[in-house]
Amino acid sequence: MPKKYHINIRPTPLDVDFVFKFKIARGENCINCGKCTKVCIYEAHKRRKDDQRKMADPNTVVCRNCFRCIQECPRGALEKAIDKDFANIGGRYWKPDTIISLWKQAEDGAVPVTGAGYRGPFTGTGFDSMWTDMSEIVRPTRDGIHGREYINTAVTLGRKLNHLVFNPSRQLTSLVPDYIDIPLPILFDVPSTDITTNVKLALIKAASELNTCIILPISEITPDVEKYYGNIIPYFTVTEIDTRKDIIKKARLLAIEFNSVLLKELPAVQKKIKELGHAITIIRLPAKKNVEDTAIELARNGAEVIHVVADYCGREADHKSGTEGRLLKDIVRAVHQRLVEEGIRDEITLIASGGIAMAEHVPKVMLCGADLTAIDIPLMVALGVKLYEKPENLMIFPDKLAKISVLILTQRIINLVGAWHSQLLEVMGAMGIREARRLRGESGRAIFFEEIDKDTFGKLFKKEK
Ligand code: SF4
Ligand code: SF4
Repeated sequence: MPKKYHINIRPTPLDVDFVFKFKIARGENCINCGKCTKVCIYEAHKRRKDDQRKMADPNTVVCRNCFRCIQECPRGALEKAIDKDFANIGGRYWKPDTIISLWKQAEDGAVPVTGAGYRGPFTGTGFDSMWTDMSEIVRPTRDGIHGREYINTAVTLGRKLNHLVFNPSRQLTSLVPDYIDIPLPILFDVPSTDITTNVKLALIKAASELNTCIILPISEITPDVEKYYGNIIPYFTVTEIDTRKDIIKKARLLAIEFNSVLLKELPAVQKKIKELGHAITIIRLPAKKNVEDTAIELARNGAEVIHVVADYCGREADHKSGTEGRLLKDIVRAVHQRLVEEGIRDEITLIASGGIAMAEHVPKVMLCGADLTAIDIPLMVALGVKLYEKPENLMIFPDKLAKISVLILTQRIINLVGAWHSQLLEVMGAMGIREARRLRGESGRAIFFEEIDKDTFGKLFKKEK
């Protein structure tokens, strides 16, 4: 059995003011008896350092909502109140609970378990209208998660041959293209432009420790990150290729912003890149209307990897304001399906990003047809960034963030990815799939609400002509 991919998670609290569902508040009728300091095993209640006779403000960060202090306070002085910012954070897509769950996963790297069953809606839009087939949940394949069998989450990036050619002496004559394996189907996408140097370094170091890669604008690739070149995907425009040959020579993967010029000149551009080194080229393609047509043309022209990029809520990049447009699930299904119809799906790698907000979105978008995903906002939330959908895509960085050590920030990103990796193993185990590569396009192993709704009720409610 090959060595298992292991992620080293470690509890790593972050000393910044984040949003919570509830805040613990101490009323004025507190008599400073100190009983709450004894009953709270998480040490949320302490006395003030400057005056031991009085109680300090409760530390909501460590509170685990057991309600013991509230029940046992002799004066009823403690209350849990809804955090005023809780209802405002996120929006329709990035729900407050999703954001808080990401934050918690970055704290301890654990799978989020809420208990008491699921009380949310039966269905929704996008990934919420899709369920994975967990029919193997009681079968022995589950042992894979717990050690007796091996579940492989590795994926491959690069162009693949449609078939192999051998000469009459049975020697392989096909030239096998370059490819790269990464141990989990998650890349780090281009980070926000507002990040500080310590955040940039933490993202790069975490990518390196996890053995994945981060897509970084070429202007951000400074000499101090040279030792991480193997985990950095330089991102540039077609016109920048000739100016940054030094970086292209060393890169294993590089990303080019889509430009219509590429529809004709892709073979020449890729030839130029291959003459400089061995980098595999990713074309970063905005998920606009008819993105599948563009993807087909690029694939026919020899594209190695196509990265379909939806907006931050997983919508089409050019959707009209006030409309939804297609969502990532449907965009990726359309691109995958067209590539299958053209008979070239197996030759290229497809990355999907935009609106990947929860661990479950990774296997779901792969079942829709992506080989792997790229994430951005969850990494920022792991570092204490608050996201608001109104005004559009507003990210509030904690004041203290620039002063927090790279070590702490790196570990929180590793924790988040560790929690997502554990959840991917859970889903794959329950589906009876032991190879992440086999998730790609297995839409028969998922249930799509729109489809069963149409199959079940479509005929009943169809208007008679
Ligand atoms: S138990 Fe109640 S009264 Fe006593 S210190 Fe705590 S909050 Fe104050
Ligand atoms: S609710 Fe429980 S965990 Fe939270 S502060 Fe009170 S005793 Fe501590």
